[in-house]
Amino acid sequence: MTAETPTPSDFIRDIVAEDVRTGKYEQSRTRFPPEPNGYLHIGHAKSICLNFGIAREFGGICNIRMDDTNPTKEEAEYVQSIMTDVHWLIDSWADKQVGGAPLYASDYFDRFYEYAVDLIRKGKAYVDDTSREDTDEYRRLGKASSFRERSVDESLNLFARMKTGEFPDGTRTLRAKIDMNAANVWLRDPVLYRIRHASHHRTGDKWCIYPMYDWAHTLSDYIEGITHSICTLEFEVHRPLYDWILEALELPKPRPRQYEFARLNLTYSVISKRKLIQLVNEKLVNGWDDPRMVTISGLRRRGVTPGGLRTFAYNIGITKYPSVTDMALLEHTMRDEFNRTATRRLVVLRPIKVVLTNYPEGKTEELDAINNPEDPNAGTRKIPFGREFYIEREDFMETPPPKFFRLRPGGEVRLKYAYIIKCDEVVKDEGGNVIELRCTVDLDSKSGGPTAGRKVKGTIHWVSAAHSIDAEIRLYDRLFTVPEPDASGDFKSFINPDSLEVVNAKCEPALADARLEERYQFERHGYFALDLDSTSEKQVWNRTVTLRDTWAKEAKK
Ligand code: ATP
Ligand code: MG
Repeated sequence: MTAETPTPSDFIRDIVAEDVRTGKYEQSRTRFPPEPNGYLHIGHAKSICLNFGIAREFGGICNIRMDDTNPTKEEAEYVQSIMTDVHWLIDSWADKQVGGAPLYASDYFDRFYEYAVDLIRKGKAYVDDTSREDTDEYRRLGKASSFRERSVDESLNLFARMKTGEFPDGTRTLRAKIDMNAANVWLRDPVLYRIRHASHHRTGDKWCIYPMYDWAHTLSDYIEGITHSICTLEFEVHRPLYDWILEALELPKPRPRQYEFARLNLTYSVISKRKLIQLVNEKLVNGWDDPRMVTISGLRRRGVTPGGLRTFAYNIGITKYPSVTDMALLEHTMRDEFNRTATRRLVVLRPIKVVLTNYPEGKTEELDAINNPEDPNAGTRKIPFGREFYIEREDFMETPPPKFFRLRPGGEVRLKYAYIIKCDEVVKDEGGNVIELRCTVDLDSKSGGPTAGRKVKGTIHWVSAAHSIDAEIRLYDRLFTVPEPDASGDFKSFINPDSLEVVNAKCEPALADARLEERYQFERHGYFALDLDSTSEKQVWNRTVTLRDTWAKEAKK
């Protein structure tokens, strides 16, 4: 795992540090409040690392709260996946800061209701019979509803009857009585409750009125004793309403305070549950955890590590300025980690067979290979070498262009960790396709031999045919062909048709012992992780990232 980065610093942490220093709160309490209407994505990872990171750095606590106030959208499957993803990302890093089992905004429905009754009693909320369309229009125009001056008793009576289910959907709302002329539209008597005869995944049919986001969110924070309520910039305009609710209810201090930061946007991807869900439902990807998705489950399956994702979250930082992060930064973070940690192995992705005509039949040698040149403790292993082996199809060219330093008819190349070979004959099938290369080996050229130091221009990798194991390898590329699929029209029209290529590869035998948690560099091909689809019969591998940024070159062209 990646060495943990130094303690980050940003404007939100500065505020928390100051509040801790001055003793404004006894202990900092943050929260991560996902709406369980989809799987978590990399933007959520940024928020998780921020909220749990603060708890970790300032001796605080961080709650996980399901923001499940919307009855029709949420599903238990999502709650399950959210918990799995959060634990994967923070376990052994900030798991001690978790404020207990997941909390649910729906557990506070009774209290939200009592607070609403209290607000009506205080003359600061009223039941409104205006239709939804008119309410929106009046708010835009700054025009008051004719029910605004309705008596407290009448509002109390109607609100109680809204709760018991007397009225159909959309016929009445509860609205805060603030200021219809406020410059900030959110303060123009926002709706706090609406009627919705719909079952809820946890409260069933107990309720047919449901609280709106601002009401539920502010009070959930208060009920949980949140000190720093951190959200993305879109909610900056809601903050006056947040503060108004706390003040109007005269809630005892300390009260939570909201702080906003810029959400994560990432090139060559879409980061919004609403869009990710379309990719899943329209089968443009293979589910939420498709390794091309920037969901946490997709990234995990792809081979990204929790430490790597946290390092990424640290590197992008927390600011108040909207920006788009380059996908190359995520890829660079992974490369940087795996270059240090990944075990090296030889794998031929698109094999072509080589036969050494001057090497004894049935003979096997065990040659030394280095497990990780960046890590002296990783040691060496033996790789078997014999008369027949596979090389990469693209490492041979019959009529190569200038500067092609790999194998050609009559040419020589060095086999990594082994000998220099020379190509004598190209065997083709009836269709003219090259099916085998017949070569001779310079038996003096291996390590320690008389011609070991002989220089040839190219070095290629190989896998012994008699010892190789077969594996399915999934090679991923960016899911979209343009940097900002969102901004360029219908994002689905920019899906990269080559974002997944599946090959049947030949692997060196040491990979038979590969472990799910370990990362491997298949030399010259990139960094790989075992996929969940692997069985005892057949391994399936995902390429997490290539060795070099192939898109940077593209961009320059
Ligand atoms: P989406 O637009 O993907 O549906 P959301 O904000 O509606 O996202 P929630 O489940 O409500 O999703 O978000 C939970 C928390 O994650 C919120 O505090 C939100 O601010 C934060 N969050 C969501 N998207 C991002 C992002 N791209 N970058 C940083 N934080 C995010
Ligand atoms: Mg949301």
